[in-house]
Amino acid sequence: MRYVSTRGAAPVLTFEEAMMTGLARDGGLYVPETIPQMTGEEIAALAGQSYEAAAYAVMRPFIGDTFSDDEFRRLIDAAYAGFGHAARAPLKQLAPNHFLLELFHGPTLAFKDFAMQLIGQMFQAALTRSGKQITIVGATSGDTGSAAIEAFKGLDNVDVFILFPHGRVSEVQRRQMTTPTEANVHALAVDGDFDDCQARLKDMFNDFDFRDEVGLAGVNSINWGRVLAQVVYYFTAAVSLGAPHRKVSFTVPTGNFGDIFAGYIAKRMGLSIDRLVIATNQNDILHRTMETGAQVKEGVTPSISPSMDIQVSSNFERALFEAYDRDGAVVAAQMDELKDKGAFTISQGAIDMLRENFDSGRVSEKETLGRIKAELTRSGELLCPHSAVGVKVADDHQGATPMITLATAHPAKFPDAVEQASGIRPVLPDRMADLFERKERVTRVANDLGALETLIRENRTT
Ligand SMILES: *Cc1c(COP(=O)(O)O)cnc(C)c1O
Repeated sequence: MRYVSTRGAAPVLTFEEAMMTGLARDGGLYVPETIPQMTGEEIAALAGQSYEAAAYAVMRPFIGDTFSDDEFRRLIDAAYAGFGHAARAPLKQLAPNHFLLELFHGPTLAFKDFAMQLIGQMFQAALTRSGKQITIVGATSGDTGSAAIEAFKGLDNVDVFILFPHGRVSEVQRRQMTTPTEANVHALAVDGDFDDCQARLKDMFNDFDFRDEVGLAGVNSINWGRVLAQVVYYFTAAVSLGAPHRKVSFTVPTGNFGDIFAGYIAKRMGLSIDRLVIATNQNDILHRTMETGAQVKEGVTPSISPSMDIQVSSNFERALFEAYDRDGAVVAAQMDELKDKGAFTISQGAIDMLRENFDSGRVSEKETLGRIKAELTRSGELLCPHSAVGVKVADDHQGATPMITLATAHPAKFPDAVEQASGIRPVLPDRMADLFERKERVTRVANDLGALETLIRENRTT
């Protein structure tokens, strides 16, 4: 299996190379050259299997000879061993024909653990083999940073530095980043906002001397390895509701389009998915794109579902590549237009293809709070604000096909908004109940490239 760039002008890579590289050199994103197919029989055979067994069956065709069969099985087992639920991704019923896929039983209580835990294992195995050492640097508004730290803490050959905006992440998110005791973990509180953190990260990748010196690597949401790990739970959920003999639809609270694009891959592999519904908060660039056929940047307004507060949806480029029949030159031209003018218009043929696969909806702040309260009455479930955005849009799109909404975070990760909506302060699961007593370790740093690079050089353990 080989990987090609969505802009058509970067080297073709193996799975291992695509995973370690992240962004392609032509600015594009890596996607598999062909999408592996699963037959109805192979899909039916997933029923009743463990999450790990299903994960192996679904992902194996994508990884080529990067890992042997046995090694890949071991990596998957290790990745999900720390989850707090035996089913890993349990399905709950909310209402007739409406189900909630709980993706928050991982170590940091958000769905990002599904991909990040596996990536951590795969990076470690590949690095042990090559003898290379790397420095992972990430910028976060909260969930990605904590998931990356949990995944890479204590691993050999890797240091992980996470930049977060000082004073602008929730206390649970901050403590998840600052309380791990492993020496290779470094939480950096930057005097700036999230955009500053992201800009300094980009500066570091563009400083080629520094990049080579420390072996800089990234694990942000455009990494193909992350998308792939997320394909699995679409299969396990659909099969438990009767696939391949019955169709299901999914609603996905989304920002960077990574999670929902994984659903599209599952559909292309042969899973019986009817609709994939994009759910956005007030930062609705994706919903507007689907409605109007034009993608127009409008700036970000902070919301109570902060992990979906985005201005540019990076993984949407992968969907565009499919919509344009894999014509990288056209995708590159549209992405240049977005960068230069802040907008581009999708061709009629391409927007028709997108609308054949995706629906969309947008939820206001008031509606999000209202949905949290109403869901408590309807089913007794306490939803996090991101999941509430999903459930509201799913209700608006409910038809005869069973609907599965992805619950992307545990309510206790966003206790203030949940309490404001419902009057109930959600409590952390037992296994992390002492989070507020653990000792914090964090370095405050100026919003300055030189200061950050010096700090990273001096504090690497590898
Ligand atoms: C990251 C995140 C999202 C958005 O996921 P995308 O892959 O960017 O679409 C939604 N909800 C939560 C809780 C998240 O952490």
